[in-house]
Amino acid sequence: MLESGQLFLKSRALIPGGVNSPARAFKAVGGQPFFVRQARGSHLTDVDGTKYIDYVCTWGPAILGHSHKAVVEAIYAAAKNGISFGTPTALEVEMAQTIRGMVPSIEKVRMVNSGTEATMSCIRLARGFTKRDIIVKFAGCYHGHVDSLLVKAGSGALTYGQPDSAGIPRVLAELTRVLPFNNPDAVRETFRREGRAIAAVILEPVPANAGLYLPVPGFLEELRRLCDHYGALLIFDEVMTGFRLAPGGAQEIFGVCPDLTALGKVIGGGLPVGAFGGRADIMDYLSPDGPVYQAGTLSGNPLSLTAGLTQLRELQKIDGWKRLEKTGCSLEKAILECIQGKPLTFHRIGSMFCLYFTPHSVCNLSDAQKSDLSAFRKFFQVCLRHGVYLPPSQFETSFLSTAHTLEDIQHTAKIVANALQTVGAC
Ligand SMILES: *Cc1c(COP(=O)(O)O)cnc(C)c1O
Repeated sequence: MLESGQLFLKSRALIPGGVNSPARAFKAVGGQPFFVRQARGSHLTDVDGTKYIDYVCTWGPAILGHSHKAVVEAIYAAAKNGISFGTPTALEVEMAQTIRGMVPSIEKVRMVNSGTEATMSCIRLARGFTKRDIIVKFAGCYHGHVDSLLVKAGSGALTYGQPDSAGIPRVLAELTRVLPFNNPDAVRETFRREGRAIAAVILEPVPANAGLYLPVPGFLEELRRLCDHYGALLIFDEVMTGFRLAPGGAQEIFGVCPDLTALGKVIGGGLPVGAFGGRADIMDYLSPDGPVYQAGTLSGNPLSLTAGLTQLRELQKIDGWKRLEKTGCSLEKAILECIQGKPLTFHRIGSMFCLYFTPHSVCNLSDAQKSDLSAFRKFFQVCLRHGVYLPPSQFETSFLSTAHTLEDIQHTAKIVANALQTVGAC
């Protein structure tokens, strides 16, 4: 048996499902996950020595590719000064300044340890600030495993048929309203009914946890208008899109300014980090100055911040976003050629992309669910067998890094074309 197989047997006996995060299991595509020994640039090598071109990029953070030299060296250097202090450091000021400089809607920011913590803190803060309880979210948007937000959620929760997790008290779930994305009428109707009780609307401005689809023109603007009119807060969950789609995230691209933003993934350079920030008058509601409690033993950890800051600086230095757009364009051109005349739908924005196995346009969760999951499963497996690692679920987004070369893209296009032939999606 391969070493990955042996490890999976062992891990299943010790770790629920054999994985520390459900999205890593291969249950939706069949087979077993491979165990990674090493990651370099655009490639992963598993414990059996098989090499893959990686389009998961550790689910987003590895925007410079894996083990980028500058990031690795900065972590080494920082560790020599100490691993965690539990006191304020200059790095935290520098990170706050960097975030503020890149994301104009953020006046004040607080660091946390994951995207989940960031969105959880955002909604607590929104509820404390507005003194209201109701949260509006959108079907298929995933905001981490926060109780109030695990209702009609995306990502692993959707992949494994548990968008409404067990263990969430009914009284909490009842405070969450779930609406279809890209449907301004549904949002208007909800606000008309109970707008004065709504604390916040939270969304992924570019939903990327049910595959990938874009906001229709005017949708984000209408959310902004409704929130202003009814005194609710607009929260953008940019854990995935922040610093990836543009220096200022999706809000920069679409020109809509949220009150609060949740960040994570890219901002940690591969170490565990999250952040949330926004209007100063709202952020000042946080403890110790304000009445909303929020804390973290390891928040602002010097190694995480060093990795994140180094990655952001490097991205700026090499004009990473322009490069990613170029690579994304090449990939898009190559994939569109492969799928020409086939009943498939391809979406891309910047360095994020997704192929749906449906000829119909996809702009919300129920459209995404029309994708032929058994075709996706076959497609995924053929790609994997030929050394191309895509996210092991239709309801995830694929990522490019600045380490992906034109050669990687051309090779991938050949594998994709071959896989589509095998699947028979023509
Ligand atoms: C990944 C993700 C989260 C959760 O972040 P974790 O670090 O996994 O807790 C929240 N929101 C979005 C949009 C994400 O993609």
